[in-house]
Amino acid sequence: MKKQVSAIKGTKDILPRDVEKWQSVETAAKRIFELYGYREIRTPVFEATELFEKGTGQTSDIVIKEMYTFPDKAGRSLTLRPEYTPSVVRSIIENRLYLQPESLRFYYIGPMFRYDKPQKGRYRQFHQLDIEVFGEEDPAIDAEIVEMAHYLLQELQVTGTETFVNSVGCKKCRPAYLKDLKTEAKKAEESLCSNCQRKMATNPLRIFDCKVETCKKLAQKFPKITDYLCQECEQHFARFCEHLDFFEIEYTIEPRLVRGIDYYTKTTFEVASSKLGAQDAIIGGGRYDDMMKEFGGPDLCGIGFAMGMERLISAVPFTQMKEKFLYLAYMGDGAKRAGMELVRLLRREGIECLIEYREQSLKSQMSRANKLGAAWVLIIGEEEVKKGRYQLKDMETGDQEERTREEIMKIFGEIS
Ligand SMILES: [Zn+2]
Ligand SMILES: [Zn+2]
Repeated sequence: MKKQVSAIKGTKDILPRDVEKWQSVETAAKRIFELYGYREIRTPVFEATELFEKGTGQTSDIVIKEMYTFPDKAGRSLTLRPEYTPSVVRSIIENRLYLQPESLRFYYIGPMFRYDKPQKGRYRQFHQLDIEVFGEEDPAIDAEIVEMAHYLLQELQVTGTETFVNSVGCKKCRPAYLKDLKTEAKKAEESLCSNCQRKMATNPLRIFDCKVETCKKLAQKFPKITDYLCQECEQHFARFCEHLDFFEIEYTIEPRLVRGIDYYTKTTFEVASSKLGAQDAIIGGGRYDDMMKEFGGPDLCGIGFAMGMERLISAVPFTQMKEKFLYLAYMGDGAKRAGMELVRLLRREGIECLIEYREQSLKSQMSRANKLGAAWVLIIGEEEVKKGRYQLKDMETGDQEERTREEIMKIFGEIS
C-alpha cells in the first residue's frame, strides 16, 4: 500500500456541494458591496512579516501566538496574512491609489491564516469577506457600513442577529483610561487567568476579549471606556448612533466591545447571531484612523469590517437549488458522435448537458440519469442515428417522444 497524503491539520476541503453555498454568499456579497460603490481588490496571500507586526500590533494576540510565519529560501521572513487590512493599506500606499479620483472603497473575499490550535469551528486556513473605506471621517460612513452589513444579512436571510457598538477612543483619550483600567485590573490580579495577567501589563484592553467566566465577571466591574472619551470621540460616537437610528438599525451599546486588534480608534462594532452559540460574532469591524499614516502613507482615516465566511455560511438557511440538466445516453460509435454534436449545440443554447464517456448499457445509463436527477434524457442508438430521430424523455412526467435534431434545438431554444 502506498502512503496516503492527508490535508494539513487545521485546513479543510470545500467540496462541490458546499461550494454552491459559498458561491451564493459570495455572489450576494459582491452584488451588494458594488451597489454601495465598493470595488474588489486582490493582494498577495503572503507578505513580509513586518507588515503584520506593524499593522496588527506588537502586543496583539494574533501576532504573539497565531501568525503563520516561515523563512523562504532566501531567508526572508514571510507571513501568510492573518487579516486583510494591513495588505490593503500597503497596496494603497505602494500603488498611490489615494492620488486617483476613485473613492477608496474596497472589498475582498479570500483565505486568511492563523497558526491557532485547531478546534471545532476554527481553522488555520479560514475565509473572510472584508470591506474597507479610506478618507471618510464623517460618522455617517460608520453607520452606512453597518447598514450595508445588515442588508447583506437580510438578503441571505440570516435572522436573529444583534448589533453591538462601542467607541474605543483615540490616542488623546485612551491613555487616561488605560491607566485606570490597569489600576483596577491590578487589584483583581490574583483572580484573573494567566493570559489576562500577561495582558494586564502589555494591553489591558484585551482582558475584555477573554472567554474565561471569572475574567468576564471581573471585567464587568472595570471602568468603561465610554466614560473617558474626549469631546471629539464622544461626538463622533453620538453621531454614529444618530445615523444608526436614522437607518432604523437596532443596536446595543457595549462598552466592553474592544475587539482584539491594536489599531482601532473610535468606532467598533459587531453583529452576532444567536444561532451560532459561543463564538457568535459573524461580523466585526471598526475605525483605524491612524493606520495609513503609521505605515508611511498620507493622513487618511479608515474604517472597515470583516465577516467570517465559515460562520456566516453556517447561519444562512440554504435551499438546494438544482439546475435542470440533460443527460445524453448513447449506444455505439455513430450515436456517440451524433450525441456529442447535439450537446455541443445545446450547451451553446445555455442548456447544461452531461455525457459520460464510458461503455455502459442503455439501462445503466438510464439509471445513472435517474440517480443524478437529470430533467431530460436524450437517448441515441444506432437505429436513431439512421433515422435522424432521437428519443427525448422528460424525467418528471415520464413522457418519451421521438424528435428530429431541429425539433430538439427548437424545444431547448425556447426553454433557455
Ligand atoms: Zn478621543
Ligand atoms: Zn482571562
